[in-house]
Order: sequence, then C-alpha cells, then structure tokens
Amino acid sequence: MALAPVQKILLIANDAQLHRLVEDYCARFRGGPWVLDWTEDPAKGLKLLQSGRYAVCLLDSQLGGTSGLDLLRTAGGNDCPTPVVFLAADASDEINEAAMEVGAMDYLVKEEITLRMVEHAIRYARKLGATMSRLRQLATHDALTGLCNRREFERMIAEEWQRSTRFGHPFALVMADIDHFKRVNDTHGHQVGDLVLQHVSSLLSGQIRVVDRVCRYGGEEFAIIMVETDRRQAVEGMERLFALLAELPCTVPGKDLTLPVTLSAGVAVVPDDVGTVADLIAAADEALYGAKHAGRNRIVTSSDWTRQKSTG
Ligand code: GH3
Ligand code: MG
Ligand code: MG
Repeated sequence: MALAPVQKILLIANDAQLHRLVEDYCARFRGGPWVLDWTEDPAKGLKLLQSGRYAVCLLDSQLGGTSGLDLLRTAGGNDCPTPVVFLAADASDEINEAAMEVGAMDYLVKEEITLRMVEHAIRYARKLGATMSRLRQLATHDALTGLCNRREFERMIAEEWQRSTRFGHPFALVMADIDHFKRVNDTHGHQVGDLVLQHVSSLLSGQIRVVDRVCRYGGEEFAIIMVETDRRQAVEGMERLFALLAELPCTVPGKDLTLPVTLSAGVAVVPDDVGTVADLIAAADEALYGAKHAGRNRIVTSSDWTRQKSTG
C-alpha cells in the first residue's frame, strides 16, 4: 500500500450526523484539509475499499443489516489495499480485538471522537498501512527478480485449486527451467547469471495475462499458474513466450555480450492430470524432466510424457 498521492478519505457509515462531523474535521486537519467521500451503501463501500484509491477508510461498525467487521473481512482483511480505522458504537475489548483481527489499523469510539483523535488515527493508519504493505511485498516476492516467491506460489496454487474444484474451471501449471544455466555462471560469472534471471523474469511477467501468476520456484526454475486455461491454451501461451525469448536474447550492459537463452517447460492441467495439488506440481515437474530429457528448449505436457514413458 504505497502512500496515496491525493489525500482522500473514505467514510463508510449510515449516519448522516457522523458524516457531517467527520467532514468538518477533515476540512480542519492541522496538516491541511483532506477530501472526504462518503457512502452508506456496503456494496459500494466494498468496491471503494478494494479500489486502492483512498489513503484511509473510516468504517462504521454497523451499516444497517451489514456488520463493518464482515465488510472488512470480505474486502480482504489484512490484504485490503486501504488501511481501515474502525468506528465502534461503544468501547469494548471484544470489538477492539475483533477489528484488529480482521485487519483494522485502529479503533475509535464514535461518541468520543475529537478532531485531533481522528487526524492522529488517520495519520497512523496510513503509515502503518504502508509499512505493512512493504512487509507483505518483502514476504511474498523474490528480491532479485521481483516475481512472487515460492511461499506465495504455494498459497496461490492452493487458492486456485480450491476455486477450480468449486467452480469446475480448468487451470494449468507450467514449470519452466533455464537450459544450461550453470554454463552462464561458469563462463561469465554470477552477476551475468543474475542478469539472465532478471531478463527471463521480465519477459515472463510481460507475457502473462493479469490473472495469471508467475513465480520464482527455485534458482533458475519458474512456476506459472494459468487460470481458466486448458492444455492447448497453456502450450500456445508457452510457445508465444519461447518465440519471444528466441527474438530477444539477453544483452549485458557495458559488455559486448549477447546471450541467447532457452527454457524447457513442463505443463500439467487441472482436472485432466491430477487428484491433488501435490500431484499437479509433481506432474508438471516430471513433464519438465521429460523436456530436458528430450533435448531441452521445448514444451512437454504431462499427458505426452506419461504416454512416452509407457511406450518406452
Ligand atoms: P539444465 O539445462 O539441466 O537445467 O542445466 P542447468 O545448468 O540449467 O542446471 P543446474 O541445476 O546444473 O544449474 C543451475 C544453476 O543455477 C546452479 C546455481 O548455481 C545457479 N543459480 C541458482 N540460483 C541462482 C541465482 O540467484 N543467481 C545465479 N547467478 N545463479 C543461480
Ligand atoms: Mg536449468
Ligand atoms: Mg533447475
């Protein structure tokens, strides 16, 4: 959650008096006035909370039939892009703890709020939100390539698995590994090896759709989760990537060095190939082994590899 450039606050509350009060406060903040947007509608509030357009949200605990806690939970809780200050009807340790539990940055009692209290809570929520967002980025992304890391891959694939089994949608997992990468390190040094990793990562992220996820699974191995994708579409997607990689070798700044890079890839798909997430990863990994075994710089599907093994 980077600090939003426009100082805009969202108030989600079905209380016109509270709105008037907060609007008056926002105009008189010591650090300068802030713009306040107000909605009483929980569904609209949810969309705005998830939009990332607001620096902070003040969220009422009761929104007609909807509880503020439930709304924040649905908005992603700790992963909600907007830091939230919870506004409770009365002081209660239980509500305070429940609000923190679902990801609120702070908690104010409506009857007790003052101008200074609201300004202070907003400033802290904003700062804490940005810090947490930075920590989340560090915990889920790989420093060298900027791709999602292995831990995040495991979370995402479990989530996609659940979605796929619930709605009966297919999805594909591709495991891709740089060919003869050790030679790059051995010949040109680790720094050039790192550049090759960054080059491949940037082509991979540039090629995938927003809904897909590309992760650094290990050293020079990548895992790509392609949602709503069957075997044929996954292979076509990888063929496009291979063509791009062939067109764009890695150039090393400051050195007259151009390094062609190739990948080998194994593709497994849900629901055709597997019964569990672990099976899916193993199937893609085995197909990748099949691609290496067959001479590298190629895409092998799990079903092709199984057939090939059984025919010897
Ligand atoms: P293959 O075609 O069979 O995949 O051969 P390979 O040489 O690519 O595979 P191998 O597993 O023998 O070597 C992988 C190398 O990747 C070894 C390791 O030192 C290197 N490596 C892993 N992580 C990094 C990294 O972050 N930076 C650099 N420069 N090298 C790395
Ligand atoms: Mg390799
Ligand atoms: Mg490898």
